[in-house]
Amino acid sequence: MAATRTFSIIKPDATRRNLTGAVTKMLEDAGLRVVASKRIQMTREQAEGFYAVHKERPFFGELVDFMISGPVVVQVLEGEDAVARNRKVMGATNPADADEGTIRKTYAESIEANSVHGSDSEENAKTEIAFFFDEDEIVG
Ligand code: GDP
Repeated sequence: MAATRTFSIIKPDATRRNLTGAVTKMLEDAGLRVVASKRIQMTREQAEGFYAVHKERPFFGELVDFMISGPVVVQVLEGEDAVARNRKVMGATNPADADEGTIRKTYAESIEANSVHGSDSEENAKTEIAFFFDEDEIVG
C-alpha cells in the first residue's frame, strides 16, 4: 500500500509536560514519519474553526479553552495507511478506555487533556493539513 498522510496535534497537556519528543517517538515507532512540524500558540479563532464540527457538543467551549491554554505542535505524518495507523497508536479518546501501549494510555491526563489529536478520515486529514500547512512546508 502506498504511503498516505494524516494530521496530528500534540496538545497543550503534553507540551506543558515536555512530552513532545516522547510522543513523537511513539508516532515514529508506530511507522509514521514526521514530514512537517511546527510549534504554535493557537488563537481562539483557529481553535474554534478547527473544531467547528464539535460546535454543538456540550464540551465545545472547554475544549477550545484547553486547546489555547498553551502551545501545541502541529504535524503532518506520513506512512502506510497513515490515518488508521495513527488512530491505533493514539488509543481511545478516553484514556480509561485506551489500550496498553497507546499514547493516550501512557500520557493522557483526562478525556479532554488527552495529549494528541489525529484525523479520523483521509478526507478530514486533507482538510486539517491544509488548515495549518502550506504545501511547501511539507517535505516527505
Ligand atoms: P478524538 O477523535 O478521539 O480526538 O475524539 P472526538 O473527535 O470525539 O473529540 C475531540 C476532542 O474533544 C477529544 O480528543 C477531547 O480532547 C475532547 N473531548 C471528547 N469528548 C469529551 C468530553 O466528553 N468532555 C470534554 N471535556 N472533552 C471531550
